[in-house]
Amino acid sequence: MSDVAAKALHELQAVFGYPAFRGQQKKIIELVAGGGDALVLMPTGAGKSLCYQIPALVREGVGVVISPLIALMQDQVDALAELGVRAAFLNSTQTWEQTVDIERKVRRGELDLLYIAPERLATPRCLELLGQAKLALFAIDEAHCVSQWGHDFRPEYIRLSVLHEQFPDVPRIALTATADHATRREIITRLQLENARQFVSSFDRPNIRYRIVEKANARKQLLDFIRAEQEGNAGIVYCLSRRKVEETAAFLNEHGIKALGYHAGMDHAVRAKAQSRFLREDGIVMVATIAFGMGIDKPDVRFVAHLDLPKSIEGYYQETGRAGRDGDASEAWMTYGLQDVVQQRRMIDESEADDNYKRIQSAKLDAMLGLCETAGCRRVHLLQYFGEASSPCGNCDNCITPPVLFDATVDVQKLLSTIYRVDQRFGAGHVLDVLRGHVTDKTSQWRHDQLSTFGVGGDRSEAEWRAILRQVVAMGLVTVDHDAYSALKLTDAAKPVLRSQQQVSLRRYEKPVKQKRTSSSRSKEQDDMSPEQQATVDRLRAWRAERARAQSVPAYVIFHDATLREIARIQPTSLVELSGVAGVGEKKLETYGADILTLIAEGE
Ligand code: ADP
Ligand code: ZN
Repeated sequence: MSDVAAKALHELQAVFGYPAFRGQQKKIIELVAGGGDALVLMPTGAGKSLCYQIPALVREGVGVVISPLIALMQDQVDALAELGVRAAFLNSTQTWEQTVDIERKVRRGELDLLYIAPERLATPRCLELLGQAKLALFAIDEAHCVSQWGHDFRPEYIRLSVLHEQFPDVPRIALTATADHATRREIITRLQLENARQFVSSFDRPNIRYRIVEKANARKQLLDFIRAEQEGNAGIVYCLSRRKVEETAAFLNEHGIKALGYHAGMDHAVRAKAQSRFLREDGIVMVATIAFGMGIDKPDVRFVAHLDLPKSIEGYYQETGRAGRDGDASEAWMTYGLQDVVQQRRMIDESEADDNYKRIQSAKLDAMLGLCETAGCRRVHLLQYFGEASSPCGNCDNCITPPVLFDATVDVQKLLSTIYRVDQRFGAGHVLDVLRGHVTDKTSQWRHDQLSTFGVGGDRSEAEWRAILRQVVAMGLVTVDHDAYSALKLTDAAKPVLRSQQQVSLRRYEKPVKQKRTSSSRSKEQDDMSPEQQATVDRLRAWRAERARAQSVPAYVIFHDATLREIARIQPTSLVELSGVAGVGEKKLETYGADILTLIAEGE
């Protein structure tokens, strides 16, 4: 083993307490620790931070991390301090005295890692400071922020090319969880990383289970889902509107689920407080608009729920990716119905954007609908979208309970002709009344009870017809005209179906079943434990919560759940035994070892 490799492994084990590198970490870390440049593309939770933290420890000098996530720097630095790493940050939230103090430490070489906001970095004062210090490396986190075509463009990132110009000998590592080629190319040119080695990992998140259910009563379904499977767990619930965020949070609280709301319209301080409670306390459900989540690296988010359809697969993947960073089993759960399709299409139609932009948005929405309606493996579909081939995963709803497809050609024809016969001037409610043969004031008034299609769909329930209509709208055979009281209209794509030139196969409607509280309410990880071990975990968690509160850091900064489970499993009786547990490094052994051994001994 080379010298650098041996040092890197030593830091991993002694500081972080992990036995081995994951995936491509070893190669990346050895390259950067040896002075090379790297571009790292890894999904959330794969372990990007170690890729710069360990080289920074191995190399002489301070590792400078550029990150746009100012609100989270304090937590990152606290977590490193827990590991015995000398870290600090420079950003606009600090006082003059704090800044001067940290600058002094940088000059004296008293820091291993320094986090800097990008707008701060390009200032003359900061560049001068860096010029006076010994630098181990530059890490450019969230590197996709340099891309104007990406979704999080930050103009300050463009100026980061100054790093290469002023400090050509300092190795650089750029990291992102954004997968697409266009963004990658832009990162390379803008940051002058042409000579960097690229490390592209699989974007799969195998521990996340994907599930998309038919929307009936979304809030009620959410409550049932949480009660049956996620009681006491931390989760994020995404809603489209601010009002819905507030209503949903209130609803969950009324039903005994600890929930907080978060959206851009809230007072800044209230929002910051909510975010901090979510990070620090166990088992909080955050109900939020998509304004929430960027850079949230809480590792034990057990579920992400969507009550509204995301606009694109990119958005869906990024949001669901916030679940399960610690690698434990997690759930991405979504309710989806006809109204979602209609609402999203309307938002695109009514936006002020130019036609080209609208076309792109439409295509993204269609891809998202394709994911919702697919009868195949959700994961295969998702990865395919990012250009990655895979085979059925066994860990999504469609793999676990394959949907039944049926030849719906005749049903769809009945529906399409009814729409045609009411002159494409009526909304879904009336069309389904005619189809199912329900006499109402409206059917009488318009004499629609005389139509040849009146009652031809009486063999199916309203819910079944709504599911058929939703799929037909998602396929683009029917549109909803917002300028005309949401009237259903046929598109050109409907013609071949009406003429029996094209078959249509659809997913059979599944009545939403109320989930029972089953063993699935416990995670796979918990299922492997005996009741005694589980009791030990519960006691360890209570101890951890107390310590976290006393030190005002998030609980996971002390130990991850996986570490607590491992401790409960081996029931260590000595510090040496305890030090063998993944996640217990030297500093943590020193700080918490005695406490834990006492707690274990008391439990026997
Ligand atoms: P990312 O930044 O890629 O989203 P993180 O760097 O936050 O991911 O790492 C995700 C989690 O995985 C963290 O809790 C981290 O401690 C853990 N982790 C990273 N590398 C390893 C490893 N080699 N062994 C065990 N756990 C690891
Ligand atoms: Zn699957």
